[in-house]
Amino acid sequence: MVIKLKQPNTSSAGPAPTIDTPAIVRGVINDIRANGDAAVRQYSEKFDKWSPASFKLSQEEIQEIISSVPKQIIDDIKQVQENVRTFARAQKDSIKEFELEIRPGVHLGQKNVPINSVGAYIPGGRYPLLASAHMTILTAKVAGCPHVTACTPPIAGKIPANTVAAMYLAGADDIYILGGVQAVAAMAIGTVTMKKVNFIAGPGNAFVAEAKRQLFGEEIGIDLPAGPTEILIVADEHADPFIVATDLLSQAEHGPDSPAVLITNSITVGEKTISEVDRLLKILPTADIASVSWDKLGEVNIVSDLDEAYKLADEYAYEHVQILTQNPRDALVKMSNYGALFLGQNTCVSYGDKCIGTNHVLPTRGAARYTGGLWVGKFLRTVTYQEVTNDKESGELGRLCGRSARAENFEGHARSGDARANKYLGDRFEW
Ligand code: NAD
Repeated sequence: MVIKLKQPNTSSAGPAPTIDTPAIVRGVINDIRANGDAAVRQYSEKFDKWSPASFKLSQEEIQEIISSVPKQIIDDIKQVQENVRTFARAQKDSIKEFELEIRPGVHLGQKNVPINSVGAYIPGGRYPLLASAHMTILTAKVAGCPHVTACTPPIAGKIPANTVAAMYLAGADDIYILGGVQAVAAMAIGTVTMKKVNFIAGPGNAFVAEAKRQLFGEEIGIDLPAGPTEILIVADEHADPFIVATDLLSQAEHGPDSPAVLITNSITVGEKTISEVDRLLKILPTADIASVSWDKLGEVNIVSDLDEAYKLADEYAYEHVQILTQNPRDALVKMSNYGALFLGQNTCVSYGDKCIGTNHVLPTRGAARYTGGLWVGKFLRTVTYQEVTNDKESGELGRLCGRSARAENFEGHARSGDARANKYLGDRFEW
């Protein structure tokens, strides 16, 4: 049985939001499809008050911007990128290319081919999310993608220098200061000043996530639905309520649409966490945002035991799941729906977000039920090939193919098989 110590406060959310995100996004995409660069500029002016001579940065501009970034930040970017690179390389090594001889002279193979042209979206409406540059651009480069176009919005009318440094050091081939739907649509559709890409990766707010969803299929491939951040913590009686509260707020600060949920078998931990959150919200510099999401979307659920906690956590299928229990590795066995797991109190979602090396672009809004997060494999096309070097085996396959195709009424397919059976085995199928 679940006792709700804190529920989402629907009354504080005010009237139902009137904003129709899919319709807004559809309008922007259609306009960009019809009017190209002029529409891109119009929406950049409208949503970001940003209309430079060129959205694309020249190499000189990039170098000048990077020279303004403090050395410590550059060093930290390099260190984090090394962690991300190390993990991504190991992931790449795990996807084996192979060739199998399943019968004499019948060769079947698998190869991994990088996507030729990738678009990376680096969010930056509220915070300069430079870590997303490591996660998207660098991972695409480890996969071997030859061309990565990267976009990030201006922040308060300014170029986010730290983000540009991270984009450059991650290996972006082209860098644009352009945000939101207009950036995603320009990359997907292509304009005079923006080369069309084959695939878009990267997280973003509800508008960015919706733009990727709408453009998927017809124009481009996408990595996964990676919208507003979510955190769920499973805690037992050993958990420290201060740590639980701190980590819940670390994600609530992303935006007013970022839920933070605690599931615990300890009423004491639940109650103390609520008091700690209230206390910390009085001193957290980003409390203006975190307090809205905690009030509107925050939850504390009390369950009878940890098995019930893991079962309930699986039903949420959240992006980030943190396990603050005595035996955190139990979650690896008992849970299956999550974007990433953070095991024990010595790590936290913020490590994953900022520096530890696993990818922080992760599924949201239940997408963890069918996909993991961004990884090097998303930038690769695992393709197959076949060759038959043995005439007799080709003839045998021809007979099998003929019978299999005729069972489906595919006479044309069958005759491709017949032709080999005739040629190599002397069969006498009539064409
Ligand atoms: P963002 O770059 O995603 O979006 C900013 C852009 O939104 C602006 O450039 C603007 O063009 C557009 N926009 C703003 N208001 C609009 C409106 N009314 N109509 C149309 N377009 C509008 O940056 P953000 O807003 O700070 O959001 C970043 C998001 O990324 C957060 O929600 C965060 O939780 C999420 N995130 C998710 C993951 C993940 O893996 N799931 C990882 C990191 C961040």
